[in-house]
Amino acid sequence: MEDELLLMLPGPVPLPERVRAVMARQAINHRGAEFGNAYADIVRVLKGLFGTKNNPLVISGSGTAGMEAAVANFGKGRKMAHLINGKFGERMYTIGQRYASEARPIESEWGTPLSLEGLKSALEDGCEVVTMVHNETSAGILNPAGEVGKICRKYDALFIMDGVTSIGGDLVKADDWGVDIAVVGSQKCLAAPAGLAAVSVSDRAWDRVVKNPPYYLDLPAYKKNAVKEPMETPYTPAVPLFLALREACLIIEEEGIDARIARHHRMAGAVRKAVKAWGLEMFPQIDSLHTYSNTVTAACIPTGSNDKDFRGIVKKLGIQIAGGQDHLKDKIFRIGHMGAVSAPELLATLAATEYAIRTTGHQVRESGVMAAAEDLG
Ligand SMILES: *Cc1c(COP(=O)(O)O)cnc(C)c1O
Repeated sequence: MEDELLLMLPGPVPLPERVRAVMARQAINHRGAEFGNAYADIVRVLKGLFGTKNNPLVISGSGTAGMEAAVANFGKGRKMAHLINGKFGERMYTIGQRYASEARPIESEWGTPLSLEGLKSALEDGCEVVTMVHNETSAGILNPAGEVGKICRKYDALFIMDGVTSIGGDLVKADDWGVDIAVVGSQKCLAAPAGLAAVSVSDRAWDRVVKNPPYYLDLPAYKKNAVKEPMETPYTPAVPLFLALREACLIIEEEGIDARIARHHRMAGAVRKAVKAWGLEMFPQIDSLHTYSNTVTAACIPTGSNDKDFRGIVKKLGIQIAGGQDHLKDKIFRIGHMGAVSAPELLATLAATEYAIRTTGHQVRESGVMAAAEDLG
C-alpha cells in the first residue's frame, strides 16, 4: 500500500508520530496566544538552524513559495544573477525571469561546480541580487555558500540562498556567510508535513526591500505581524501545519542542532561508502569548494538498467527512492537521507537498492550494506 512505503526521498520525508498526532487537533484561532506561542517556538528553533539572529517568517506554501517571496520582495525590477547547477537553480532563474529587470543565468552542467568567475563578471556588469541553491537536491551537490557570500558582499549585492534541503540537516551559518535571504521548506530536513516555507531576511536586505511587493507574499506585512504579541501572520495561515512544524522543531531542539547535523553526516557517509562498494559512480563532480550533499546522495544507475525497472524493484520491497529529474531520468538514482532517518531505515534502503543493482545484472565489487553497516553501528 502506498501509505506503507518507506519514503527515502529528498522530501517529503516520513513524519515522526508526535508530528502526525498534533494535526488531529480541533481548530484553534490563529489570532490568539496558542497560535502565537507555536509560531514563537518555530522561530526560536529555526533561527538556530539558519544560523541567523533574524527571526524567520513562516509562509503557508511549499518551498517554492519561499523562493518566490525572496525574489519578488528583493529582486523585483532589479538586475539579478542566478547560479545554476541543477533543477532548483533553474527554478530560481525561472522565477527571476518573472520579476527581475534582467535575469542572468550563470550555468554549469547539473552536478558540476558553480562558476564563481561567471558570478564576478555578472556583478561587474551591475547585477544587484544573486540567487544560489545551497544543497542542489536534483544533483546531490553542496554548493559553497560562504564563498558566494563573500563575493556578493564585495560587490554589495544581496544574496538569496535556497537552503531548502540543507537547513535542518547540514551546517548553515547564514549571518557568518553573508546570506541576506535564506529559505527552507517544511517537508525536507525538518521532517514536518509539506506546505510551509520559512524565510529569514538580513537588516541590509530590509533596507532594500522593493516598494511594490506581491500582495500574498508581502514580506514586510509578514514582518509587521510577526512582531505582534502574540505573533501573527497577515492572513489565515495553515494552522495544522504550523502546529505540526512546531512539534517537529521541538523534536529538533531535543536532539540538538549539532547532533542532528552529525547524524546527517553519518548517514550520508554510510551511503557514499555503499555506492563505492557497489562499484557505482557518484553523480556530482566535486572540487575543493563543492562537496557531496549530506542530505541526498545521487549516484549513477548501473549501465544497462533503467529508472523504471531499477526503482520498481526497490519499491516492491516497500521502499521509495528517487530517480533523476528531467534529462537525468534513467541516468541517476537518488537516496534521500534527511529528517528523522537513522540506521534501520538506511540499512533497509541500502539492502533493497543492492538487491536491485544485482538483479538488474550489475556485478557489485562488494556488499554496500556490509560497508555501510560498519559505519553505522
Ligand atoms: C524541494 C525543494 C524546493 C521546493 O520545492 P517545493 O516542492 O515547492 O517544496 C526548493 N529547492 C530545493 C533545493 C528543493 O529540494
